[in-house]
Amino acid sequence: MPTNTKENILNISQAGLEDIVTGLGDKKFRAKQIFGWLAKGVTDFDMMTNVPATLRDKLSEGWYIGIPYAELEQRSKDGTVKCLFRFTDGTAVESVFMKYDYGNSICISSQAGCRMGCKFCASTMDGLERSLTGGEMLGEVLAMRNLTGEDINHVVIMGMGEPFDNYDEVARFIRLIHDPSGYGLSLRNITVSTCGIIDGIDRFAEDFPQVNLAISLHAPNQKMREQTMPVARKYEYGDLLKAAREYTEKTGRRITFEYAVIDGVNDSKECAEELSGHLKGWLTHVNLIPLNEVDGREYKKARGTNVKRFKDILESHGVAVTIRRTLGSDIDAACGQLRRRG
Ligand code: SAH
Repeated sequence: MPTNTKENILNISQAGLEDIVTGLGDKKFRAKQIFGWLAKGVTDFDMMTNVPATLRDKLSEGWYIGIPYAELEQRSKDGTVKCLFRFTDGTAVESVFMKYDYGNSICISSQAGCRMGCKFCASTMDGLERSLTGGEMLGEVLAMRNLTGEDINHVVIMGMGEPFDNYDEVARFIRLIHDPSGYGLSLRNITVSTCGIIDGIDRFAEDFPQVNLAISLHAPNQKMREQTMPVARKYEYGDLLKAAREYTEKTGRRITFEYAVIDGVNDSKECAEELSGHLKGWLTHVNLIPLNEVDGREYKKARGTNVKRFKDILESHGVAVTIRRTLGSDIDAACGQLRRRG
């Protein structure tokens, strides 16, 4: 590594900043000021007006503030804003801002590209470019807040990438954004979605029992899941359900299963019955997602009547279920498609 390469200061915790400022010969309390400024979304050290200019200069010699640049921006009539954010090394990811009754939410990416290979997903079509750091994920939130001028009080890690294929940096992000001296986001307002990496689920139950967990299930059995999700070959269906169940028992929290309903693939009455058989009686919630059709992928969105029938069957077995509301349909491009165009 060349010694003159600057590092992204958004990756640093407040404790880490204390070491840096004391190492630069300044007082420890400056770290709290700097950490607070970073969480406000400042883009330049000179905006930290209560920090002495000498310290600001020293910081900017070794560090940069890694808030990405919004290269493409699509705004929907319903308030949804979808962005292609580019980092200084040229890597680009997508983030989406959404307005709900309960507040504003952002869906962020944890990796540029993905290596999980789900057959219906656009993000994985070119494989994994690289994982993001925790500071870069924080940068997505700050960039979106700067751009929209709106508070963001819910974060879902459900954009491009597999969070548990980048566990340590996702954990770093959660700790950074939760720190009350900084952004101060409640853990309960964070959701992580995984394609079903069991080691990650077990670790997450230990590390972050208050953060919401969603599992992309998308099939009622192993055979069907393997056909659309290669990760199922490594983590078997029954084992995944067992890990999910243990998660609910350990944390006392409900788990969400995502189920993208695909025409003629997983939308039959039999599929709904089989899924109900697995889930009835435990602390779950099923989120039915009308498939976003992706250019270059053969899968089609299930018909509305089939989605409704699926929901009714789950409900008849007492399984909690919702159909995901579609936001931003007038700017619609399934997650991952903006980057492929950009
Ligand atoms: N890797 C994580 C998070 C990113 S994907 C995961 O798999 O959960 C977020 C959600 O969108 C997942 O449930 C994913 O399966 C789903 N998804 C991917 N492509 C989709 C598409 N074309 N239509 C609908 N949902 C899709």
